[in-house]
Amino acid sequence: MWGIIGTWEMVLEGLREGGQKLEESSHVFDAIESTVKTVEANELFTSVGLGGLPNEACELELDAAFMDGKTLSIGAVASIKGFLHPVSIARSLMDGPFNNFLVGEGAEKYALAQGFEQQEMVTETAKEKWLLHKEEVKKGLSPYLGHDTVCVVGLDKQHNMATCTSTSGLFYKKAGRVGDTPISGSGYYVDERIGGAAATGLGEDIMKGCVSFNIVQKMKDMSPQAACTEAVKELTELLIDRRTKAGDISVIAMNSDGDYGAATNIDVFPFAVMTEKVGLKLLTVNDKGEIKECLC
Ligand code: ASP
Repeated sequence: MWGIIGTWEMVLEGLREGGQKLEESSHVFDAIESTVKTVEANELFTSVGLGGLPNEACELELDAAFMDGKTLSIGAVASIKGFLHPVSIARSLMDGPFNNFLVGEGAEKYALAQGFEQQEMVTETAKEKWLLHKEEVKKGLSPYLGHDTVCVVGLDKQHNMATCTSTSGLFYKKAGRVGDTPISGSGYYVDERIGGAAATGLGEDIMKGCVSFNIVQKMKDMSPQAACTEAVKELTELLIDRRTKAGDISVIAMNSDGDYGAATNIDVFPFAVMTEKVGLKLLTVNDKGEIKECLC
C-alpha cells in the first residue's frame, strides 16, 4: 500500500509525480520532497517558494518543515530568504539530535554551508502585487488577506510515513513573523504507527490548538476523515468560545493503511490525493464536511 495527500489545487502536478515515485517504490522522503519542490519552483503559485507573497518590507521570508514518521525526527526553517527549496533545507536538518530548527540568518548560513544555492526569490510580479497591496492596505484593507501552504503527507510501500510543508506565510506579514507551518504538532505531525496530518490557514489560530498532533492522536481510534472533522470542529468552537471568532483552518490526513481525510472551516478547501486504492483525485471539502470530486 502507498499513498500521498496534499493541500490546495497547486499541489496536483507535484503530487502526481510524487505518487508515481511511490508506485515505483521510492522512499517516502523523496516522493514528498519532490512534490513540494515542484510547487516551490513554480512562480505561478504565489504563496509558496519562488514568486511567493512578500512581507511588509517586500522581502520573501519562507517557512518549511519535514518530519519522519519512524524516528519522529523533525527539520525546519523559518524566515529564510533567498533559497528556492526551503523544504530540502528542512529535510537536511532532520539528521542529528541538535540544531534541527533554524531561523533567519542562521538558517541561511547553514544552507549556504550545505551547498544550497542562493537566488533572488522576489519576482517582478510579486513586487507589483506588493505595491498594489501596499496601496490597498493604506486604504484600510486587511494586510493579511492572502496566504496558503503546501502540505504533503505520504506513505510508501515499505510502510514509511513522512510529512513536509512549505509557505511564504501571510502576505505583508511583519518581518520575522512565523506561522504554524514549521511548527510540529500545529502545522504538521506524523507517527507512522498511526498516520500523519497537516494544516493550512491562519497560523496564529492553528497554533492555539496543535491541530495536526490532535488529528494523529484521534486516528488511533477513528478514520482520518472523522479525525479531521472532529479536530477542526473542536478547534473552531474553542476559538469562537474564547475569542469570538476563528481564523481559517483546513487540514489533511492519511493513516498507515493509506486511508485519507480532510476538513475545513472555510467555504471550500481543495486538496489532492493519490493512493494505490483510489488513483489520483482532486477533491474539495466544505465546512459541512461534504466532499466532491473535481475533474483533473
Ligand atoms: N498557515 C500559514 C501561515 O500562517 C498560511 C497558510 O497556510 O495559509 O503562515
